[in-house]
Amino acid sequence: MKAITLATFVLVSLINAASAQDAKRALINVEGDVYRWQNNAHFGLVVFTDSGVVVADPINAAASSWLEAEIAKKTDLPVTHLIYSHSHADHASGGEVFEDTAEIVAHQNAPDKIVGVTVDHRVADEDSLTVSNKTFEFTYLGAGHGTDLMAVVVRPENVAFVVDAMAPRRLPFRDMPNANIDDWTDQVRKVGSLDFDILSPGHGNVGTHENVAEVVIYMETLRAEVLAGLQAGKSVEELQEELTFNEYSSWLGFDWRAANIAGAARSLNESGALN
Ligand SMILES: [Zn+2]
Repeated sequence: MKAITLATFVLVSLINAASAQDAKRALINVEGDVYRWQNNAHFGLVVFTDSGVVVADPINAAASSWLEAEIAKKTDLPVTHLIYSHSHADHASGGEVFEDTAEIVAHQNAPDKIVGVTVDHRVADEDSLTVSNKTFEFTYLGAGHGTDLMAVVVRPENVAFVVDAMAPRRLPFRDMPNANIDDWTDQVRKVGSLDFDILSPGHGNVGTHENVAEVVIYMETLRAEVLAGLQAGKSVEELQEELTFNEYSSWLGFDWRAANIAGAARSLNESGALN
C-alpha cells in the first residue's frame, strides 16, 4: 500500500510540475488565411500565402519552435518572412528559429540585430510588402511605447496586427514605463486612423475599430482627471483613492488602474503640462 501511495504521489507531482511548465499555445483562425498564434499572454500573427508563410513576432525560441511544427502540419511551404511589431524582447525573442528561410522585416528604427537576429528588410514609416496574394501594410506608430513600433494590416483580409500600443478593452500597461501618456495616446489614435475590419492584438482579445476609440477615450479621461486633480493640489495617492474608473472594471488589466494614474501624473510632470 505504501509503495502505491508513494508512486501515486510521485506521479501527481510529476504531472503538476509538467503542467506548471507547459505554456498555453494555440493557432487560431482570425479571417481567411490570417491566424493569430498564442504563447501564454502573448499573441503573434501567421499568414498563409500562395508562396509561403509570413509570421509576425517570434515571441521566444520555444514558442517559435512549437509554431514551426504547427505550420508544417498545414503546409509544406516555408516561412518566407518574419515581421517584428517592435524590438521589445518579450515579443521579439526566438527569431533564429525562422532565420534560415525567412527574410527578417522590421521598422527602420529597429536595432541592426533584434535579440541576435539581423534585420534584412527595413521598412519606412508608411510602407508595404506584397507576398504573393497578400499585402502587408506597415504604419509606424511613432515614439511612445518603444521607438520602433509599427502596425501591420493584412489585405485582402483587412486584419490589423497591433502590439502593446493598445488592445480591445484593456488598460495601458502598468505606469506606461519609459513613455509619456500623450505620445502613447497618439500611438492609439494612429491605430484608429488605419483602415481595417478586425483587430488582432499582441495581448488579449480580437476586436474591431470601435475598440480603438474606446481606449482613446479612456486615456483622454485618465489624463484629464489626473491633470485636474494635480492642479487642485491633490497627491497621486489621493487620486488613486478617488479615481476608481469603475466603469472599466470589466476591462483586462483593470488592476493597473492605480499604476496608470501614477504614470499619467509622471507624464504630466515631465512634459511640463502642469505649468
Ligand atoms: Zn513592447
